Amino acid sequence: MRMRFLGGAGEVGRSAFVIEDEKNILLDCGLKVENIAEYPLEIGKVDACILSHAHLDHSGYLPTIYRDASPPTFTTQPTMELVGLLIEDAMKIAKRRHDKPIYSRADFNEMLSKYVPCEYGLENEFDDYTITMRDAGHILGSAVSSIEKARSGRTLAYTGDFKLWEQTLQKGADPVKCDILVMEATYGSGDHPDRDNLVKGFIEDIKSVVDNGGTALVPVFAVGRSQEVLAILEEHGLADRTYLDGMARAATEIALAHKRFLKNGRLLAEGVNKASVVEMQHARRNAVKGGKIILTTSGMLTGGPVLNYITQLNRNSKIFLTGFQVEGTNGHKLLQGKPLIIDGKKFSVKNEVGFYDLSAHAGKTELKEYARLCSPEEIVLVHGSTENIAAAADSLSAEGFKVHTPKVGDTIDFEF
Ligand SMILES: [Zn+2]
Ligand SMILES: [Zn+2]
Repeated sequence: MRMRFLGGAGEVGRSAFVIEDEKNILLDCGLKVENIAEYPLEIGKVDACILSHAHLDHSGYLPTIYRDASPPTFTTQPTMELVGLLIEDAMKIAKRRHDKPIYSRADFNEMLSKYVPCEYGLENEFDDYTITMRDAGHILGSAVSSIEKARSGRTLAYTGDFKLWEQTLQKGADPVKCDILVMEATYGSGDHPDRDNLVKGFIEDIKSVVDNGGTALVPVFAVGRSQEVLAILEEHGLADRTYLDGMARAATEIALAHKRFLKNGRLLAEGVNKASVVEMQHARRNAVKGGKIILTTSGMLTGGPVLNYITQLNRNSKIFLTGFQVEGTNGHKLLQGKPLIIDGKKFSVKNEVGFYDLSAHAGKTELKEYARLCSPEEIVLVHGSTENIAAAADSLSAEGFKVHTPKVGDTIDFEF
């Protein structure tokens, strides 16, 4: 079997890997979205796709496969619904910017019609292979996929983005015994701060801002982080002071329809009941008057209602960043104390800015622990900067694993 790395190897974004065996199986098909769009290398013939989760760096290029082919895509139901939401939005943005479309609505509809819904832990047959998805602990519906080949009895597992340790809404990732483990290493060089302490500080800081008449503005990714933060706020009695705006609303509705995929769906449902959902412009004005928490998109301040709110904050307000900020984005500029670009104009933020690492990715220790639990012969590290991949490779080699660190365009041959 030969594996080809078409994107997302030695980098984060445009994840796409092909297993070339008796059949060609595509693992994820994403794009880079933050600044200028970047796509995977030429994909070639595909017999089946496996989609790990909904984020566009894993799913955003998948509809292009359906231009002139019609393979099944194995994924979970919430993932397919969230992909629908994200791709609809991406198509709207592309149209507004007059970008040349990379796929048509017909391609996208064809993709939706060919998907095979997978339940965690249940086997799905495809040709000589058995495909099983398990909880990856990253976001709603995210999955670690294993592909077992009947003839050889060998198994390859692909983590997608994953987190071994529990979050407020997500259970931790389930391990899978395998021979080859393709694993993300976004945070290969370090561990995240202790989650309980981090959440405690986050809540204390939010309380002190809203009690002083400020607005706690929390920019969030629509899918995943917005639901996690709302659940944290509900757990600490703050959901009734929270406004939910932008695509975060729609993503939260999908989450509520699939509570069985969450550890603590009831907490989210209670949070949604207490929070105010912003649908009209006048509600936005109320939300930003002070004393409230606003959860809104986009997480890196590249667009969405957050850009409107940020220009209207009173001086007691604070911005709470909760996720990784890619270089070149407004969120990254904000962390650097540089002016943002809003509607083509510079805007200097006078408010305090805090960073809270509520990451949904495995840190260094989790990568090691997960590898031990899966006990593969070989590990392939993807989805990380070269520095993070190198650090993870060092620590896993020291454990006795044979580790590969491919770059985009590389191929590796495996016994399968
Ligand atoms: Zn992700
Ligand atoms: Zn990712």
